[in-house]
Amino acid sequence: MPKYDAIIIGTGQSGPALARRLVAAGRKVAIIERKLFGGTSVNTGCTPTKTLAASAYVAHVTRCAADYGVIIEGAVNLDMKAVKARKDAVVAVFRNGVEQSLKALQGCTVYEGHGSFVGEKKVAVNGSELTADQIFINVGARAAIPPIPGLDQVPYLTNSSMMAVDFLPPHLVILGGSYVGLEFAQVYRRFGSKVTVIELGPRLISREDQDVSEAVAGFLNEEGIDVRVDSKVIGVEKAGNSITAKIESTGRISQVAGTHILVATGRRPNTDDLGLDKAGIATDARGYIQVDDQLRTNISGIWAMGDCNGRGAFTHTSWNDFEILAANLLDNDQRRVSDRITAYALYTDPPLGRAGMTEWEVRKTRKSALISTIAVRDVARAYERGETRGFMKILVDRDNKQILGASFLGLEGDEIIHCVIDIMYAKAPYTVIQRAMHIHPTVSEFIPTMMGKLKPLQ
Ligand SMILES: Cc1cc2nc3c(=O)[nH]c(=O)nc-3n(C[C@H](O)[C@H](O)[C@H](O)COP(=O)(O)OP(=O)(O)OC[C@H]3O[C@@H](n4cnc5c(N)ncnc54)[C@H](O)[C@@H]3O)c2cc1C
Repeated sequence: MPKYDAIIIGTGQSGPALARRLVAAGRKVAIIERKLFGGTSVNTGCTPTKTLAASAYVAHVTRCAADYGVIIEGAVNLDMKAVKARKDAVVAVFRNGVEQSLKALQGCTVYEGHGSFVGEKKVAVNGSELTADQIFINVGARAAIPPIPGLDQVPYLTNSSMMAVDFLPPHLVILGGSYVGLEFAQVYRRFGSKVTVIELGPRLISREDQDVSEAVAGFLNEEGIDVRVDSKVIGVEKAGNSITAKIESTGRISQVAGTHILVATGRRPNTDDLGLDKAGIATDARGYIQVDDQLRTNISGIWAMGDCNGRGAFTHTSWNDFEILAANLLDNDQRRVSDRITAYALYTDPPLGRAGMTEWEVRKTRKSALISTIAVRDVARAYERGETRGFMKILVDRDNKQILGASFLGLEGDEIIHCVIDIMYAKAPYTVIQRAMHIHPTVSEFIPTMMGKLKPLQ
């Protein structure tokens, strides 16, 4: 039975980085990957979707070219095979980078196969049983498929199978109006598909404030996306080339007939086939591995990182998990999950950058708070660029002057939010940004101005 100091299952965002640190510390490491090196982010998540979004943005801007005085003769057409080839090339660079660097890593043995526990400190892969005192689980998550009658009888797409699409779906029906669904919705609309988004809840991206949801729905509608909220898909059926979704909405039944269906209704952890019971590792009711503030499972010497621990659902949270583990295990630095501040983006155009609490969450705390908002059309740089959709909102604790949260929906929202994130980590008062001199003309220059316009949150 091959014995290692550490076994890592999965090569998502945290596993490979941890392997490198462990090997550098002189440990003998085994890492197991059953499919694509680099996991979701690299192969079926962040990298390919943002690469496709770049093609979609070019198509969109080209269609708007005349608004800028740029005359393009003829129609704007997409070569979907070339769009996919560009996406594949970018993904290949990232994936090969992970794969080759792991295979070249002295002290690290790479196993290509499905890993599963067969005992507390034993993992089976490709017919071998490996053992180690330390085991790290980085198996990620996959699309959750809702139990909709008929769905299993039609060729539905997920974020993974979308990656093979090299044609223009004439009418893409997307189940789920949250982050994954909305990014695909805008991208394919800009490619030229007819797009319908069907959302069960009363509004899109329901974790966000209502004004944010409404603004996002507004610009998606403007681009011609049919957004249906409060709509439950109660059945799916294929007839010829069309797939029909039967929808129940406020007591009425209707139908949407599309050519392709994308299921984007949530994620589930890849823990159901991991033999966790053989090792006695506890999960919650949804299969997420339960971990403490330093990512320890209930079994000593076993940790879980990334999406599978339910403590984050982003590439950066998984990477942060790696940093927390490396700090605790190798650097004598007691970093914790609870030290991190909520931060993420929705990569529509314009994007939404988020930090800390939403306005609704601040209201729930009943803290005495201040708020400042600005429309992006009032930001000089956005006006010059002709990209004026959205608004920015910051909330501050009235007593200690620290920033509680921000939602920046607009041009560069995913970048400028870091002005806020960093000051939040510094636990500095908002007046520090208020007094900072920012560069003109940028979107960020309005952040100090916003700080000067804070008003009590009513
Ligand atoms: C469409 C889409 C877009 C996204 N966009 C963003 C974004 O813009 N920004 C962002 O921060 N996040 C984004 N995310 C989320 C992000 O991709 C994930 O949070 C991130 O990839 C999680 O990484 P991870 O480390 O948990 O594991 P993963 O990246 O999921 O990797 C897990 C790996 O483990 C392997 N594995 C699983 N089980 C086993 C087993 N039993 N044996 C061996 N190997 C196994 C898998 O094959 C996989 O390679 C997006 C997700 C999707 C679906």
